[in-house]
Amino acid sequence: MTFRYNAELFFSRLFAYFAVNRLFPLCAFAPLRKIIYTDRMATDCISRSLATSQQKAAFRRRLVNWYGKHARPLPWRENRDAYRIWLSEVMLQQTTVAMARPYFERFVAAFPTVHDLAAADEQLILRMWEGLGYYRRARSLHAAAKAVSSDHGGVFPRDVASLMRLPGVGRYTAGAVASFAYDTSAPILEVNTLRVLARLAGYRGETASTAGQRFLWRTAEELVPAKGAGRFNYALMELGAVVCKPVQPQCETCPVTAHCAAFQAGLQNEIPRLAARPKPTAVREAAVVVRRNGCVLLRQRGRGERWENMWDFPRFELTSEVPLLVRDELVAKVRQQTGVTIEPGALLKTIKHGVTRFRITLDCYEARPAGGRIRSTAETPVRWTPLAELAKLPLSVSGRQIANTIRLTPRREGAMSKAREGARIDANGEVQNTNLH
Ligand code: SF4
Repeated sequence: MTFRYNAELFFSRLFAYFAVNRLFPLCAFAPLRKIIYTDRMATDCISRSLATSQQKAAFRRRLVNWYGKHARPLPWRENRDAYRIWLSEVMLQQTTVAMARPYFERFVAAFPTVHDLAAADEQLILRMWEGLGYYRRARSLHAAAKAVSSDHGGVFPRDVASLMRLPGVGRYTAGAVASFAYDTSAPILEVNTLRVLARLAGYRGETASTAGQRFLWRTAEELVPAKGAGRFNYALMELGAVVCKPVQPQCETCPVTAHCAAFQAGLQNEIPRLAARPKPTAVREAAVVVRRNGCVLLRQRGRGERWENMWDFPRFELTSEVPLLVRDELVAKVRQQTGVTIEPGALLKTIKHGVTRFRITLDCYEARPAGGRIRSTAETPVRWTPLAELAKLPLSVSGRQIANTIRLTPRREGAMSKAREGARIDANGEVQNTNLH
């Protein structure tokens, strides 16, 4: 029985192999092709049309030729300066080209060399990074610049292992800098190349899993050439960015369809298989704008906190639902964070924003000081900050929105008084009824 089953399986696979590779190489009958290929593709297969060294060479030639004609002109590709390449790669993590580009141009204008960046004040770097998110990257960027400046004489290492010893530099960034700047034969795997490689190989497993990562890195290693690695890696990334897009890849204009297992099986819209995203968690938070004599109360966020080393209004999670209890919670938590006792006032603005998997509804209240003393420590300094200084300090995106709001809507005693009597101001500055007080 087992022998018969195995024999049947063997002959059906043999038939599939000949049918697909010999009889229907570009079969127009897509459903049949899909069935045959799907059956043939294991969860960790590599395309048969990329198996031999001749096929790999043909693939590289087609890809690099295409890149020569279609590459987008991007400022970090103008030369092979490792500093500019590294800077752009750190910025492009979790960010689009359109978003990163103006930041890149501002940074290279302000810090033309890695020594300039190393010598810069961290607060200035964070301020210039504002809006790019993932602020740990900015702090690592500064630490890595210091290391290159002091330990490597301002010259980025050429090999992946030494690059990976720099703060914030992982295998991808190290491979990108080594290959783009020095042509070191190093593989890369980031969101675009991951998608292209998974489709080329017809990889149907989960790409974020350990097995998936191992397989895709190995595939990237097998394909990267010994010479011309920088141009090849750029071409692979570019193909993913402009042709082999996440949704509806433009296979009709792709230069490497002949090497693509997903295309040949009609599975390009089903590969790669992504892990299910965790459900967003809804959180309610409050920020409090405490004003006194043209100043606002700010605290610098401490080590390990979200937005570490950046400045912020007193801000915390709100657990109360009932307005009277919300008021008590504002008073208690502002005192706990700053030492200052407040009298809460109007609701200035509600901001909805996301941080990682959290969907945050942030209520921003005005308040005036009613007692207590500032409690400031070296880890989390607290201070009265002149409004004009807000423009120079690094704030989160929502912090900047609050700062812009109070700059445009100076405190109105009348409105505050009404708020204290049971009114609030909405985002447009209109006074509305509320039961907060
Ligand atoms: S053929 Fe289609 S799926 Fe395959 S690499 Fe090209 S664009 Fe991507």
